[in-house]
Amino acid sequence: MPVFSKILSLTGCAGKQQLRPYSAAAQSQLRELLGQQLSGIQEAGTFKAERIITSSQSTQITVQGSDQKILNFCANNYLGLANNPEIVQYSQQLLAKYGAGLSSVRFICGTQDIHKQLERKIAQFHGREDTILYASCFDANAGIFEAILTPEDAVFSDELNHASIIDGIRLCRAKKQRYKHRNLADLEQQLRSTDARLKLIATDGVFSMDGNIAPLARIVELAKKYDALVFVDECHATGFFGATGRGTEEYDNVMGEVDIINSTLGKALGGASGGYTTGPAELISFLRQKSRPYLFSNTLPPAVVAVGLKVMDMLLSSSELTQRVQSNTQRFREAMTKAGFTIAGENHPICPVMLGDARLASTFADEMLTRGIYVIGFSYPVVPQGKARIRVQISAAHTEAEIDRAIQAFIEVGRSLKVIK
Ligand code: PLP
Repeated sequence: MPVFSKILSLTGCAGKQQLRPYSAAAQSQLRELLGQQLSGIQEAGTFKAERIITSSQSTQITVQGSDQKILNFCANNYLGLANNPEIVQYSQQLLAKYGAGLSSVRFICGTQDIHKQLERKIAQFHGREDTILYASCFDANAGIFEAILTPEDAVFSDELNHASIIDGIRLCRAKKQRYKHRNLADLEQQLRSTDARLKLIATDGVFSMDGNIAPLARIVELAKKYDALVFVDECHATGFFGATGRGTEEYDNVMGEVDIINSTLGKALGGASGGYTTGPAELISFLRQKSRPYLFSNTLPPAVVAVGLKVMDMLLSSSELTQRVQSNTQRFREAMTKAGFTIAGENHPICPVMLGDARLASTFADEMLTRGIYVIGFSYPVVPQGKARIRVQISAAHTEAEIDRAIQAFIEVGRSLKVIK
């Protein structure tokens, strides 16, 4: 079987409809080149296969090839809202009223009253002056640095920031400086020795591979000392981290002191899609004029805007789900630590169960699946060599009984694989 077809069948992309035979030499060359690289990825054991889910996103899901319900511990569905009936119903209602989409970017004829309402609600939730919506947080990160920074400016970025921040910074013409992960001494040294006009510190609020937290209060302190701005990506914090879900600045007691927040509507906030920047009015206004992913990409569809609106209403009126995900997290972390596992990160629903060896992590995940628990093993190059792990993600929608079932399965597998006694 030619390499390319083999890869297609492995990825499940080879449908019943056969591709037409290609004659063009350039296209054969492309297939051959990519096919070889795909085989290399496969051989290195880093090929990302996708499990096909046949139900809605939830704590209990079904996957193709099985009718059995499995317990899901690997979604970013932190508040458990991805299939919330009230949200789905509201989304259907706005779909019926406003249609499938606007067929336009915002400044041509792609702004509805609901887009403005959602921007206002997000600004209210974060206590900011204004908000600009994007199709994703990847776009929000891709669109901000290039728009606001010039060659006279400098950006200081944590070395483990998310890929979208790295790409966004690549696009800008400011001086680019990377500081060691969460290392304030290194950051200070770099801030001290710059003569840039605008200085912007950029960090993830929560780093998603380790579930660890940016030292935001001390970053804010350094920013004040060196007259710098602070940008935080709150994708793994908005809605559920901090006492009322306001994110890392609430968790670290610096509410309102971060200058720019970017976040996603595609994780805790309903799990559909969409991203945003929230901050000073002039910044948001400027982004509407200059930010390329906003100017040159379609507006968010009404059914997706509806999800954001309903979630914001829920979060503005109650912190109950936020508290539930926090108590579920505590239950899991405490019992697993007591059982002898090492859980990385700090008080966050991302709970990496550290195993070290890559093969052990993948065997462990397979064994968990045979017990009806869906978790994913992460190994090099996604995480450093020798730091393979299973990343468990806790949701407000998990019941205590479901959390306990997962813990029990971890203990059984952990004993059988001699990870714990
Ligand atoms: N930033 C961080 C830290 C993320 O984890 C992600 C998603 O994986 C993104 C940005 C991109 O978010 P979105 O899915 O809205 O593009």
